Amino acid sequence: MSNNIFQDIIDKKIPAEIIYEDDLALAFNDISPQAPIHILVIPKKPITKLSASDDDDQKLLGHLLLVVKKITSDKNISDYRVAINNGAEAGQTVFHLHLHILAGRTFGWPTG
Ligand code: AMP
Repeated sequence: MSNNIFQDIIDKKIPAEIIYEDDLALAFNDISPQAPIHILVIPKKPITKLSASDDDDQKLLGHLLLVVKKITSDKNISDYRVAINNGAEAGQTVFHLHLHILAGRTFGWPTG
């Protein structure tokens, strides 16, 4: 096992409920859902957090958003929130970039 649980999911060393996979990205259900639908979309490239990405990642970052669009569209989810926690103070606990897709309930704003 690595010290990055999401890398272990990419490498299929630990199980996950995989929703979508392609050459660049993987999406799976969050193990501790904060909404009726809570899916994580991650790049296969080991980027620790959004602020660690660079200009070369432009296509990959765009791709992740299009994966969000594909998953929500395939599941007929029209209203959803996409969140990225960048850094511990922002709530990041797993240091492999991930986009949260949250849906199935009403969300407040601003977030807590
Ligand atoms: P964050 O707090 O933004 O770093 O989000 C990390 C997310 O990963 C949390 O919502 C966790 O519930 C989720 N998580 C941690 N371990 C796993 C796992 N093995 N499978 C699926 N989701 C996980």
